[in-house]
Amino acid sequence: MKISIASGKGGTGKTTVTASLASIWSTPLVAVDLDVEEPNLHLFLNPEITGHETALMEVPVADESLCNQCRKCTEICQFKAISVLGDVILTFTEMCHGCGGCIAVCPEGALSAGSRELGEISWGTVGSVDFLMGRLRVGEAMSPPLMRQVKQRLAQMIDGRDCDVIIDAPPGVSCPAVAAVMDADAIVLVTEPTPFGVFDLALAHQAFAPLGKPMAVVVNRAGIGSPDVYKVCKDRDLPIIAEIPYDRRIAEAYADGRIVADATPETRGIFDEMVQRIRSMVPDADCRSEVSHG
Ligand code: SF4
Ligand code: SF4
Repeated sequence: MKISIASGKGGTGKTTVTASLASIWSTPLVAVDLDVEEPNLHLFLNPEITGHETALMEVPVADESLCNQCRKCTEICQFKAISVLGDVILTFTEMCHGCGGCIAVCPEGALSAGSRELGEISWGTVGSVDFLMGRLRVGEAMSPPLMRQVKQRLAQMIDGRDCDVIIDAPPGVSCPAVAAVMDADAIVLVTEPTPFGVFDLALAHQAFAPLGKPMAVVVNRAGIGSPDVYKVCKDRDLPIIAEIPYDRRIAEAYADGRIVADATPETRGIFDEMVQRIRSMVPDADCRSEVSHG
């Protein structure tokens, strides 16, 4: 079973929910931080990092002495990442998506494969839980290529194993968020009962609903703000699988970087129930199903 923990906006408690679920999950699990722009799941889980690698993306390197200025490379590039001015070839590697198209069409072999650093992929363990995360290089604009490589590493980690996967997805509804939920068997949306939380919950549901996956909601900081969150869930047939109360002890646990499920006896019960509700969303799922690299 693969579960993505997502949210329409940042700051709703998505990562604290993910960390708590990982800490109490009773069967083999890989916890993945796919929020590669701002990974912070490790701050709560404190994994022992046992390996890491630099993630690279293929970008073109030009040899102008071989170029005949045919411009086939500029015609195929959808991202304006390569340009030919007179006998000068300009490559804008920060705009390159690494498709390799320009290298493939160059008739003179004037373009070869170089690399651009995307970031770092790290893995390790937290007790019996396997841990995996990506961290985008500071200044790198594109997170999906790094996310693809994290997902490739995940596919290797779970290959042939009977385990579950829980993914901390990036907030929002843009391309990285969709990429983080598209492989999941179910999506858990974490929200808060504020006007912003309610608005972005509706956006997230609208963005992810076409994927046709079971979705449910966790209301964090329940008891404050707007009751509209319950109306949105009711109108959209979104089951609420847990409400985490607005409680000073929970806020203190969060501020200390502790696992929220351990904050009070009541929260542990809430998360135990949440695990059961999540399992019931996809009773027949198996983690060995395909992980796409998209
Ligand atoms: S590899 Fe693809 S995206 Fe990058 S410059 Fe070449 S055609 Fe453009
Ligand atoms: S496709 Fe190759 S030969 Fe043609 S302009 Fe580009 S680099 Fe030069």
